Amino acid sequence: MLKEQLEEVEQKIQSACERAGRKREEVTLIAVSKTNPVPVLEEAYGLGVRVFGENKVQEFTGKYEALPKDICWHLIGHLQTNKVKYIIDKAALIHSVDSLKLAETIEREAAKKNCVAKILVEVNVAEEESKFGLKVDEVIPFIEKISVFEHIKVCGLMTIAPFVENPEDNRPVFSNLQKLSVDIKEKNIDNINVSILSMGMTNDYEVAIEEGATMVRVGTGIFGARNYAV
Ligand SMILES: *Cc1c(COP(=O)(O)O)cnc(C)c1O
Repeated sequence: MLKEQLEEVEQKIQSACERAGRKREEVTLIAVSKTNPVPVLEEAYGLGVRVFGENKVQEFTGKYEALPKDICWHLIGHLQTNKVKYIIDKAALIHSVDSLKLAETIEREAAKKNCVAKILVEVNVAEEESKFGLKVDEVIPFIEKISVFEHIKVCGLMTIAPFVENPEDNRPVFSNLQKLSVDIKEKNIDNINVSILSMGMTNDYEVAIEEGATMVRVGTGIFGARNYAV
């Protein structure tokens, strides 16, 4: 079943790329494996998946230890400052940086481990009360502040779009994040590159790709419905 679902997602990504006149290589599929046990991830690994997304630090580090070392692990969930030290040299990319306090902690912990943390700035484009992330107009001042950090590399922007019945409803959310990335590029801020746009989940990744996503985070579409009880 995993194999078929993975193939279906791959097909849909390819079609969305074609519709948008984009190359398939421009889009990275992140297999969001949260709540799935290690054997399921091993099966996905056997099918060629090398990019996984997790949202909880403890689950992330457990799976990191259990699975092969050629996997790129993405931390996609909200990150508490006191947990940064556990993932700083393990996450290929942290998608959820949304405060100066968190950025300062990442800077400090990365310096200790002598590494440079790659991060995305999380933007609450739709301004939902329940969601983390900066407001659109807070992003440029924030990026200017953290651009001086030597152990942080800003690589792009991330958003979690609202839950909607019709994925078309999220098109403006995705196009606004894309526009924001263009505005940032035009500022030519030192040490800042915003080429990554992490947007789109199972329900709406095709629309996100049409609007410029370079990373889509797909969980349910690959692994099936999550069981939070286990
Ligand atoms: C769980 C999660 C996803 C994947 O959600 P699906 O709807 O299952 O594809 C993507 N991004 C984030 C930040 C998540 O927490």
